[in-house]
Amino acid sequence: MTKHILILPGDGIGPEIVAEAVKILTYLRDTAGLAITMEEAPVGGAAIDATGVPLPDATLDLALQADAVLLGAVGGPKWEPLPIAIRPEKGLLGLRDQLELFANLRPAILYPQLAAASSLKPELVAGLDILIVRELTGGIYFGQPRGVTTGEDGTRTGVNTLVYSESEIRRICETAFDIARQRNRRVCSVDKANILECTELWRTVATEVGTEYPDVTLSHMYVDNAAMQLIREPKQFDVMVTTNMFGDILSDAAAMLTGSIGMLPSASLDATGKGMYEPIHGSAPNIAGQDIANPLATILSVAMMLRYSLGEPTAAERIEHAVSTVLDQGLRTADIMSPGMRRGGTAEMGDAVVVAMDSQV
Ligand code: NAD
Repeated sequence: MTKHILILPGDGIGPEIVAEAVKILTYLRDTAGLAITMEEAPVGGAAIDATGVPLPDATLDLALQADAVLLGAVGGPKWEPLPIAIRPEKGLLGLRDQLELFANLRPAILYPQLAAASSLKPELVAGLDILIVRELTGGIYFGQPRGVTTGEDGTRTGVNTLVYSESEIRRICETAFDIARQRNRRVCSVDKANILECTELWRTVATEVGTEYPDVTLSHMYVDNAAMQLIREPKQFDVMVTTNMFGDILSDAAAMLTGSIGMLPSASLDATGKGMYEPIHGSAPNIAGQDIANPLATILSVAMMLRYSLGEPTAAERIEHAVSTVLDQGLRTADIMSPGMRRGGTAEMGDAVVVAMDSQV
């Protein structure tokens, strides 16, 4: 059955890096029989310029109908003076909300060829391949009551509420276990069950879900220890599953272990496996339009899309293998350049990945 992909280039380097990802999809469609259609729409600042709002109804309708969404990045100085309610970032948040994308998948992968880019010793991180599964629509970022109140004596009190229902915990844990089955079959659930009752329930439900996956090994870790272990011995992890706030913090720390923001993809999934795929970096307005942005995070986001939403794991592996081949050949964009390597631009990198895929056949 033909799958429909909505392409949202966005702002800054978004259109440049998305164009390279589209090259990969086009190659797979035209030469490997991948049954897809692609349609493009504006979001973020580009949508504000075209329609006055960051998420036009027409874009949202297309996103709701699509099987998967590929997003570049949104935002930039041009739109910063606008009120927060109509800034480009609202387009992204609106899509996450309307598509009910509750599972955020953030891999921290370090290709051995780039091990020198990490702030950790190469032997600790070379070949690192962790996937953090972060709950995205619940927890303390959304819990009620929230806000700042002022008492009769003028003293201000701030409150936020950490709340998770059993069903919210269950579905994110099931997502993590399902994905672990496609990887090394290990899940580490991260909580603060020694202090927070809410995450005591998290641990209980994670354990219950674990009994339904006897082929996957489940471990538990307190979040403070998890932060320490990520820096001490990151390769001990396969899949980590955790709450919205813990995941927000741990996934940024894990990403930075790799030292290369231009290399990391991400996915946000709904309950049916439909997802939005995007690089973890922003729109990098400082380098937009210069053909120097690294398109590999976006290209690797396409690999995630093929694996998690389109049921095409072999095509996903072809892309990942081709990226590795191109790095072996010594081609580097400016952000991952090192002595002895050959520097290339955004389009050259995309073309090289296509050539590497073509030579696999
Ligand atoms: P950024 O990720 O855009 O850039 C940070 C640094 O990394 C910059 O020096 C940039 O040049 C570099 N960089 C980022 N991606 C790169 C790539 N592919 N290749 C080479 N270098 C790359 O973060 P920022 O500067 O804080 O934000 C810029 C804009 O992006 C802001 O408007 C922000 O709101 C927006 N933003 C959007 C998203 C998103 O769309 N998901 C995420 C983060 C930031």
